Amino acid sequence: MPAAYNQLLDATIQHLEELKSRGVRNVAISRETLRALAQPAAKPEILNLKPRIEKIPATPVAKTETTISMPAKKITAPVESPIAVSHIRLPITSSSPEKSAAFAELQKRALSCVKCPHLASSRKNVVFGVGSIDAQLMFVGEAPGADEDERGEPFVGRAGQLLTKIIQATGLSRADVYIANILKCRPDTPGQSAGNRKPTPEEMQTCIPYLHEQIDLIRPQVIVALGATAVDGLLGKTVGITKLRGNWQTYRGTPLMPTYHPAYLLRNQAMSEKRKVWEDMLAVMEKLGMPISAKQRNFFLKA
Ligand code: URA
Repeated sequence: MPAAYNQLLDATIQHLEELKSRGVRNVAISRETLRALAQPAAKPEILNLKPRIEKIPATPVAKTETTISMPAKKITAPVESPIAVSHIRLPITSSSPEKSAAFAELQKRALSCVKCPHLASSRKNVVFGVGSIDAQLMFVGEAPGADEDERGEPFVGRAGQLLTKIIQATGLSRADVYIANILKCRPDTPGQSAGNRKPTPEEMQTCIPYLHEQIDLIRPQVIVALGATAVDGLLGKTVGITKLRGNWQTYRGTPLMPTYHPAYLLRNQAMSEKRKVWEDMLAVMEKLGMPISAKQRNFFLKA
């Protein structure tokens, strides 16, 4: 087979594998492309074909397109949103094969990391991150808890379910954004059968280069730092989150919104605190030029 064909095939397979590892279950592909892909490889015209691999469209797939299903890594089941809004998508460009390959290489390095031997020996999974590597919006939390360690995916426990609700309230889904943590391993809790602990400064310093690389590759337009540890890890600021939240900061030129960690909202059920986080998300939506409905704008107004 011609080398160019093999290169195209390899890049396509790599790209599809990458999408699959991020939970994408379907890709839309036109009938014309599908027919062309079925042609014998030696046909010269196939070399000029650019398979159109796109994110799953929000609207039903057009009649002229066929949906190919891929077995996928499970994404947390959607939790009912506090605000019923239609599912909107930020305009995104498909990730290039080079970007996918660089991200896969970074993930491979992180998954085999043993720089913190105590965490490497206690972890069940390295919790690298989840979502779209072309996301315009990125959420950064503290560190995986027991549920995340078990599943290998960030924010899937109770706090994660609340974060999912918050994301959905903006009209986005987890697959539209990227979610990662300062620490990729669960902080060990020797002698304790339950509970979490904060990452130590040494653990944060050791692990943070992976997050820096993730952000460098994704290049989100806005970062939301969830809680004090995320702010500290990304900005080196130890000013209280109560003071910082709601005030735009800058991470290496990217606007960063500090807000409360969803675990805080689970501990403090006051409507006024939920409203603050929602106001921070409205500011994020505005910054991204996302549409904001009156219902979204007025939610929590009476709190
Ligand atoms: N809390 C975090 O900060 N990150 C997770 O992934 C889960 C809970």
